[in-house]
Amino acid sequence: MNNNIRTRFAPSPTGYMHVGGVRTALFAWLLARQKAGQFILRIEDTDQSREVEGSVKHIIDSLDWLGLDYDEGPLPKAQKNNYFQSERLEIYRQYALKLLENGRAYIDPYSQAEIQGFREQATVTKQPFLYRNHRPNNLNTVFAKNQPIRFLSRPQAYQWHDEVMGDMKAGEEAIDDFILIKSDGFPTYNFAHIVDDFEMKITHIIRGQEFLASTPNYLNLYEALEISPPIIASVPPIMNENGNKKLSKRDGAKDILQYREEGYLPEAFINFLASLGWNDGTTKEMFSLKELIQEFSLDRIQKSGARFDEKRLIWLQGLHIRDMDLEKLYRIVSPFNDNPINSHFWPKSAYNNQFDKNYRLKVLKLTQQRLKTFDELDGLSRFFFEDLPVNHDLISNHKQLKKLSSAEIANLLQTSYDEFNKIDDWSFDNIQNALNNLLEITGKKPAELFSLIRIATTESPASPGLADTLELLAKPLSLARIQSHIKSLA
Ligand code: GLU
Repeated sequence: MNNNIRTRFAPSPTGYMHVGGVRTALFAWLLARQKAGQFILRIEDTDQSREVEGSVKHIIDSLDWLGLDYDEGPLPKAQKNNYFQSERLEIYRQYALKLLENGRAYIDPYSQAEIQGFREQATVTKQPFLYRNHRPNNLNTVFAKNQPIRFLSRPQAYQWHDEVMGDMKAGEEAIDDFILIKSDGFPTYNFAHIVDDFEMKITHIIRGQEFLASTPNYLNLYEALEISPPIIASVPPIMNENGNKKLSKRDGAKDILQYREEGYLPEAFINFLASLGWNDGTTKEMFSLKELIQEFSLDRIQKSGARFDEKRLIWLQGLHIRDMDLEKLYRIVSPFNDNPINSHFWPKSAYNNQFDKNYRLKVLKLTQQRLKTFDELDGLSRFFFEDLPVNHDLISNHKQLKKLSSAEIANLLQTSYDEFNKIDDWSFDNIQNALNNLLEITGKKPAELFSLIRIATTESPASPGLADTLELLAKPLSLARIQSHIKSLA
């Protein structure tokens, strides 16, 4: 028995990559990396009518963004170039010839119209349509161009084990004489993937559940080819947010690369993908890539569909931002760096002359605790770089503050001003002490007083912690802003 694990991702180049596809790739990649095996990318381009230009590049770019590197696959990444099925037609033909020779395949003599007739007949008699019931008496096993080749099945019942779905079984009615090679000379998926997985020494097939119903047919063909099947893991679909149907473009299944444009972190996105239908058996939700490689197992993939909830992605992104090295975060949100995200997230004023990288790093360190998406950086940091106009709505819309009169507000702010003015050494601890004193002096609750001071010094609906914010703004600016807010009330 060969212990070397080899998994593959086998997309068809029929459009952009979405979450479902890339999650399958992630699972196959995790297994290969965990077992120090190989991960192979194979492009299944046998249905030329469905091919969409640019899809292959899109698949490669998506895997690249997420860091799902492959050991074998199409050029230019890997060295060999026979990982496109369209370049492997001769291989499939050889396998088909062998089956013809052994009497396990035959030429399909019927026209499309005739087959349609059989189908309709089955509908009338309320029988499931099976091609094998119309198998011609004298089977032609001589290869002929432009004629489909069909498998000569040997119907039987099967029991098999699926790593995700458990023990499965199907009766002989699941078996049919399916097409191996189409009239255009291209193989069907049903045939090509079996040949390729064998030729490429794949040990584990990880794919969508839509292939479960055909698995008995595949088992029948494996037998005819005298191949022992790889381990199969059928992954459930990703469902829409309500969990009542398969996720579609209309429910927000978007292009994977769009998440990159929107500033999502690959590590957060991978964490999100893994959580769609997999967990480690505990309540743990945040996983680094290293942890996923360690913990992943096929038998912990759930059997039923996973709900797609983009709010979870945003939440996970917040966790990963907080966990991130500050310099790395700085590189991501700042312009003119090597990051593929071209847009930048700072307000323009962050680049005024009086501010340097060191100051921006301090601002970022404070906002890091609150950021969930990078485009929140502007709103959470702008007041560190420019004076914002006094915004009275922030007070009149505030739950605790709207009941205060202008005179009361002016009073509270003046008391705060005087207390802050006493501080010689403008440090976090001294500011925090002054804030505590102010609670005693005014008899107000933090939700009231601190909100008021925060609004007067930032003119923003949200900011990092108050003492941190004031410390970084420094004493002159903090006092000046309180002063102008008081003036605006007069
Ligand atoms: N080409 C198939 C698809 O994109 C792959 C299925 C498989 O992984 O075997 O659905």
